[in-house]
Amino acid sequence: MTDHPSTDVAIVGYGPVGSALAILLAQQGHTVTVLERWPEPYPMPRAVHFDDEVARILQACGIGGSLDDISEPADVYEWRNAAGTPLVRFGSVGMGRGGWPSSSMFNQPALEARLGSRAGELPGITVRRGMEAVEITQDDDGVTILARGRDGAAADVRCRYAVGCDGANSTVRQLLEIPSTDLGFFYDWLIVDVVLNEPRVYDPINVQVCDPARPTTVVSGGPGRRRWEFMRLPTESLDDLNDIDAAWRLLAAWDVTPDNATLERHAVYTFSARNADQWRRGRVLLAGDAAHLMPPFAGQGMCSGIRDAANLSWKLDTVLAGRSDAAVLDSYTHERLPHARAVIDLSIELGKIICVPDPAEAAARDEIMSAGVTDHRTSIPSLPPLAGPLLPASDPVAGHVFPQGIIAVDGERRRFDDVHGAGWRLVTVDADPIDLDPELGQWFSGESGEVVAIGTHADVEGTYATWFAEHGCTWALQRPDFHVHGVASDAEGARSLLADVRHRLTHRTTVDQTQGEMTR
Ligand SMILES: Cc1cc2nc3c(=O)[nH]c(=O)nc-3n(C[C@H](O)[C@H](O)[C@H](O)COP(=O)(O)OP(=O)(O)OC[C@H]3O[C@@H](n4cnc5c(N)ncnc54)[C@H](O)[C@@H]3O)c2cc1C
Repeated sequence: MTDHPSTDVAIVGYGPVGSALAILLAQQGHTVTVLERWPEPYPMPRAVHFDDEVARILQACGIGGSLDDISEPADVYEWRNAAGTPLVRFGSVGMGRGGWPSSSMFNQPALEARLGSRAGELPGITVRRGMEAVEITQDDDGVTILARGRDGAAADVRCRYAVGCDGANSTVRQLLEIPSTDLGFFYDWLIVDVVLNEPRVYDPINVQVCDPARPTTVVSGGPGRRRWEFMRLPTESLDDLNDIDAAWRLLAAWDVTPDNATLERHAVYTFSARNADQWRRGRVLLAGDAAHLMPPFAGQGMCSGIRDAANLSWKLDTVLAGRSDAAVLDSYTHERLPHARAVIDLSIELGKIICVPDPAEAAARDEIMSAGVTDHRTSIPSLPPLAGPLLPASDPVAGHVFPQGIIAVDGERRRFDDVHGAGWRLVTVDADPIDLDPELGQWFSGESGEVVAIGTHADVEGTYATWFAEHGCTWALQRPDFHVHGVASDAEGARSLLADVRHRLTHRTTVDQTQGEMTR
């Protein structure tokens, strides 16, 4: 096949990850065709939580203005034993590093609808619903995807790159014969989304009931909604649980009945944990649940997929524009796979504490955990920084998420990204202006880079001054996915950061697997 690709990127699957990726690519001027198997959006209950970093990526997708309408902050996630005694209190009050609440509760179909509307505003995106990808072939110039409509009609989509965002049972992953590592965690849970007919205050907002008689999750499902999740007991069959009467019976213990509530949706899911061992094969990549699957106890499955989209979109952009070699795309797997794997491991560890139906085992767990509980909130262990051949291993801050603060512009307080957008940002608070040699400056502008001197007065909450002081530096180079490339203490160091990125992006890189460092 050597015909001219009809679209820059084809995305298989129009869930939250496919939508976010399509938007981020189209915003950078690329054409995107999305193939989605179902004619209508998926209506069943799934994600209810995203974190501040993911909110920031959604802001970059252009839906920051509506996030407050479809989400509510959650400052506490309390785990209790059967007697109601707290075992641990996770959470934090106020804004996270990403400039949004550390935890937000939402309704997945509502979020997908917002992403869908945003995608509809971007002329570069074509969504072909009711089209199932069934075959993929690739050659030196591009990828051809054969898709079938529900009436059996077939269509070819020719693209330069393709991304499988097609969920847990990914067809793309299977067609590429990419093996997965299964981490052997399987529990069935009944998930129920409820709208209460009368307002009720839940304090704390999110609770995990570690009762061996019925491990249960009781959390916000976004504004106006509540979510209950009930674990299947070893004595029950799937059919016993996957039933609307079973849902009402279990909800009755929480004073939720057909008289005071509407049951919006219910479904049984088998929570499992696995990751695809490779996320790129030639011109085809995987993202979201197609690449990794985890139990939902850390509320991070979709979050991980949205992080994939942020990481991959700028790398595809620079490769599609011819500014970088395709080898840059290997860094996507190097950076994202270990990160997702750490989040899967964390989710499994949380699940091992929760999914305990044995009373003796639960009692032993309670004894250990309740000894350490205080009124203070504990943080869920922080997610690891990114590492890999695009990031300087010698810089201790490289790969960490750079903060988003509130800055004053013309007397108005605004989030930094709403003013300066997402992209390469060489940021300082109060350093002297920096001169870039014309060649380096031209390269930086070509990558949509911008030097931003915030100014002490504009750093109204001191977010940046505090961060720079904490890290002993005055300059930070932020990547388009909001991670730090590196930091510097003076103009010379700042210029070196840019030269370093340019080198890493413009020279064909290969990775020495034993060193984890880049060789050229
Ligand atoms: C009960 C539950 C609770 C959860 N809670 C959270 C939470 O609080 N926070 C969180 O971050 N995550 C949570 N998750 C995980 C989250 O829902 C998923 O990670 C997220 O939906 C994955 O998004 P995705 O776009 O990768 O895949 P999906 O949403 O599965 O979308 C994949 C799309 O691909 C389409 N598709 C599949 N095959 C093809 C094909 N061959 N051709 C065309 N289209 C195809 C599908 O129809 C689908 O629309 C939860 C999940 C569950 C089940």
